[in-house]
Order: sequence, then C-alpha cells, then structure tokens
Amino acid sequence: MIIVDEERIFREIREKNPASVSLNGPDGILPQVQDTAMRITAKFGIPAYVLADTTWGTCDLNTNGAKVLGSDIQFNIGHTINTESLDETILIDAFDDVDFDDVAKKCTEILQGKTVSLVTDSQHLNQIDRVEKILTDGKVKVKIGQGKGQLNDGQVFGCEFYPASELKSEVDAYVFLGQSNFHAAGVALSTNLPTYVLDPYFNEVREVTEFAQKLKRKATLAIYKAAEAHTFGVIVGLKEGQLSKVFALKIKKELEEQGKQVQLFALTDITNDRLRNLRGIDAFIQVACPRISTDNQFDMPVLSTPQAKALLRILRKEDVGEYLEISHWL
Ligand code: SF4
Repeated sequence: MIIVDEERIFREIREKNPASVSLNGPDGILPQVQDTAMRITAKFGIPAYVLADTTWGTCDLNTNGAKVLGSDIQFNIGHTINTESLDETILIDAFDDVDFDDVAKKCTEILQGKTVSLVTDSQHLNQIDRVEKILTDGKVKVKIGQGKGQLNDGQVFGCEFYPASELKSEVDAYVFLGQSNFHAAGVALSTNLPTYVLDPYFNEVREVTEFAQKLKRKATLAIYKAAEAHTFGVIVGLKEGQLSKVFALKIKKELEEQGKQVQLFALTDITNDRLRNLRGIDAFIQVACPRISTDNQFDMPVLSTPQAKALLRILRKEDVGEYLEISHWL
C-alpha cells in the first residue's frame, strides 16, 4: 500500500493558510492523491485540485497547471529526491510498505556468492536497508552507490544512474527493488551488466538484461535509419525540467554542417499521433525525456539526446560508440 506523508501536507497548510491547493503524482498513485485531496478539503474546507496530467518525474512537475489554477500551494507527491521542495512546489514522500522479505530470500538463492548493487525508485527507497540485510545474511555481498544531483543513495531515475554507474567495476550485477522494468532496463543499459528486478507483488526475481538489449537494438536501428534522412525535425520539450533549447540549437547547427535540413518544433507531449500531423520530415530528434525515444513506437526515427550524439558520430564517419553506457542520458 502506498503511504502518503499527509502529516507534512497538513502541516504546510496549517502554516501557510492557502485559499486553495493543487496536488499531483505519478499515474500509479493517483487514487491515493485523490484520497489525500478529499481529506484536505474535509479538514481545512479549501478546494484541493488533483492535477491529473502526467508527472513523470521532478523534471515534469506541471507547475504551470498550478499557476493557471491559481492554487497557493502545489504538492507533488511520490517523487522523493534529496530535497524537500523545488522552486514553488513542495515534494511529498509516498512510500510503498510492501514486504520484500520473501522475494529477497528468493534472490539469495540465485545470487549467492555474487556482489550486487541495490538500486530502486522513489517509492521503495525506504526498503533498501532491510533488503540489504536479508541479502547479506544470505551470503550476497551488497554495495549501495552514493547519490548525486537529485538522487539519494541507491536511487535511479529513468535517465540518470549515478549510484549504479559508480559501482560498475565493483559488482557482478544490479538488483532493482520494485516492479519497474523501465528503471531496471535503464540500469542494465547504462552499465551493461546483468540486472534483476525484485518484484514483491509477483514474488518474482526476473532478469531484464535481454529486455534492455532489445531496447538498445531498436534504438541503434533508429539511429542508422536517421543517418539516411535529409530533413530533420528537432523537437524541444515544453515540460519545465526537460527544456533543452541550447542542445536543440547545437544539434541543429551540427546537422546543418553535415548538409541536413532542420526545422525546429516544440511540444509538451511528444507522441506518434502528434508527429503524424507534421509534414516533410524524414526523422526527428527530441531533446526532452530520452525514454520517449527508447521505449515508445514511432512511424519514423525519433532519436533522443544520446542517440543524436551517436548519429552525429556516424555522419562524421566515426565509431557509434557505447552511446547509452553513460550515467546521465541528458
Ligand atoms: S527518464 Fe524522462 S521522466 Fe524520468 S527523469 Fe529522465 S527525463 Fe524525467
């Protein structure tokens, strides 16, 4: 069950006495966000709006939605990082209290004698110490990488893997706590080491290394297809933490130096449906969330930032390189 730190929300409301508030959170915990909003209104008698658009990370807080609504406080729930607020938005912890004991014991049977690094997402950070003890008792050597930037120790985002990368030369494998193949595949791609998901809901230890390799093959194919394109669309993402105009203009210039035509676009949600409306473009480069390109299906090549850098290397007749084996894909 997801436990939202409502006490902190209530404390902030008592201290700041807002006329209205807004709340958002990842899709998976929207029901809990709804419940919290109802409790705020019942307790304080103020409107509490659930901003039900996506919020994929602290890169995508939808502060603009809160501004348009005119809410005095915006609470973003469930993207725990190493700070309690970002600009005007108050970040609220939401932890999953699911029990990892059984699945962690299963893991010791598979990885006994190995050295692993434990990694996880925001919702399961609270479980790292307990799982570390179970694995260690089961003769698995455990290391936990240090946090960096917004990341806590052992935490990874879908495009940022510092605690994992720093231990790459010291471990045999990675063990991700939670259900997210998405995060675990990112770890596998950025480290090129076997990666397992410890899924407490299915009580299952599953390896995602092959799944990650499939994503990589798809990403590489898109790069080679894009190398044949004449006209490129370079897309700037309009989500506040994903805005990267400088890189968009840089890549435009570099593609033009290679004889390519480039048109600039800006989009909030970069989807195949939106791109289908645009004409005369052979391939796109989007400089917002890299996982849009690696994890979704598009009718034509839509490259992320690391893929775009690899594309430029190909166009310059250089080696494509291990373009995803980096700590941060932006
Ligand atoms: S993977 Fe995408 S949504 Fe997640 S932190 Fe990175 S840019 Fe944001």
